[in-house]
Amino acid sequence: MRLLLAASLLAVAASAQAPNDSGLPLEPEQAAFDATYYDLALAVDIDARTIDGTLLMEARIVQPTAAILLDLDAPLEVTAVEEVAYVVGSGDEVSLPRAFGRTGNRLRIRLGRTAQPGEGLRLRIAYGGAPRVAPRPPWDGGFTWTETADGTPWVAVSCQVQGADLWWPVKDHPSDEADSVRVALTVPSDLRAISNGVWEGRTDHGDGMATERWFVSPPINNYGVSFGIGPYETVEMEYQSPLGYTATVPFFVVPERVDDARRQMPSLLADLDFLERTFGPYAWRGDGYKILHTPYLGMEHQSLVAYGSTFEDNDYGFDWLHFHELAHEWWANLGSAPDWRDFWVHESFASYSEALRAEDIALRAGGPEAAEAAYLAFMQGKRNGHRNAIPVAPRETRTTQQMYALPDGRSNGDIYVKGAWVIHSLRYLIDDDARFLAAMRSLLYPSAAHEAVTDGRQARWVSTDDVLASFSRAADRDLSGLFEVYLRQPETPRLQVDRDGADLVLRWLVPEAAAGVVFDLPVPVVVGGDERRVAMPGGVGRTPVPEGVEWAVDPNGRILVDLAE
Ligand SMILES: [Zn+2]
Repeated sequence: MRLLLAASLLAVAASAQAPNDSGLPLEPEQAAFDATYYDLALAVDIDARTIDGTLLMEARIVQPTAAILLDLDAPLEVTAVEEVAYVVGSGDEVSLPRAFGRTGNRLRIRLGRTAQPGEGLRLRIAYGGAPRVAPRPPWDGGFTWTETADGTPWVAVSCQVQGADLWWPVKDHPSDEADSVRVALTVPSDLRAISNGVWEGRTDHGDGMATERWFVSPPINNYGVSFGIGPYETVEMEYQSPLGYTATVPFFVVPERVDDARRQMPSLLADLDFLERTFGPYAWRGDGYKILHTPYLGMEHQSLVAYGSTFEDNDYGFDWLHFHELAHEWWANLGSAPDWRDFWVHESFASYSEALRAEDIALRAGGPEAAEAAYLAFMQGKRNGHRNAIPVAPRETRTTQQMYALPDGRSNGDIYVKGAWVIHSLRYLIDDDARFLAAMRSLLYPSAAHEAVTDGRQARWVSTDDVLASFSRAADRDLSGLFEVYLRQPETPRLQVDRDGADLVLRWLVPEAAAGVVFDLPVPVVVGGDERRVAMPGGVGRTPVPEGVEWAVDPNGRILVDLAE
């Protein structure tokens, strides 16, 4: 379930040379089914750097189709495909071989009939080979084969940009999250194999290999499925939730960082406490929360945040990498973008949440003034380097790579920092922190009753239009014009400031791509040391400033504006 049917089914040609990407427009043979369950059994040969896997996929047909199209990275070879059916009457399982073909990063399975909407489908795929080695994890993903300080193997996978098809056959589109996923990892028996969800047990095979089994009960993004293999030790700490429950949180960490993990745990659990107070319950209480030490910086793997940072707090008093990835449990995993064009819903909201965390720590330590200073200073740190090359939230369907990188190859941080500045500006516009925070929280939890759900129904889609609707309600007005200028076209709006007698006249200059759109965000102006809010009806505002009195437009950095001459 959790299937979102694409409005239009665009055919794309996958050639053998096509780079692996995630979220390409769905082809009809992908859109024809809803992947409901993946059961992955993977044996990892660390010496050979190969994998040997069997994937069982359960799906529901939603459009008539004679074939099923899955993604699987080209270097991995498929050796057999079977449809698993039941004999009518006896209920015995029968496996029927199915013909298949590979084109580039695609696997096309012919069903030998036209499957009809409502039919359930079970496909078992045997595959294996040498998976892609991650060139620059986690951004350019794949397997990371490394060693701990004493030379013991340490293996991890990251695949947000390319998708889980780097290591298993999957429908690699954010609009289709499986209802649940099971992962069984067979590894050398002196190592641990940690994956998402609930630990189901470990079987020692007596031949130097062991299998560890994990089960994710709620819906999950395919890139959110991950693992770490290594001589992991477990540092545990009790978490007392502000919502009343308690949980044990394990940090799986390699031996040389055990002391660091133990020292850092209270800070990491304080992140969890803050996020629950601010955005509602941690959604995967049924699966628990775990932290996995990884040989790359980090990733928001659901219920198993990947952490490869420095085990230190920043100047604001929190461990930013852990906080950022944990914030994604709300902004990415609980509220998920159905298309990568809405990537900013993951990254900008997680990045903006960091500013709220800095503010909250300062509030507790030094009161409201210190809180505002910390918040504004934190946002100032995200002000530079905006690319303004592509819209933060384009309307057209997009892949991960199209959002992460610009056509000229530069990385696109705008889905993090520029989007965070849009949210920051909306806070100024709404001018009521309770309403502003409620607008964010209701994107994840539309009602109090929703916050009590732990059986998988809590997962939600959050698109840019959902964000617009929620903030428009909070602002008591339609914010379409603001969203159009800030998010749907690439440039940052400029502000023209003129003197007219005893007045300053402010005029928003809307970029050409949004010509005709009314952009009327109020503008903070400091006059003689006092900050005032200048209303901008129709995009034009006026405020009295006596001659000789010092003034400045938005010196505290409250809104996203291009003030360059
Ligand atoms: Zn992120």
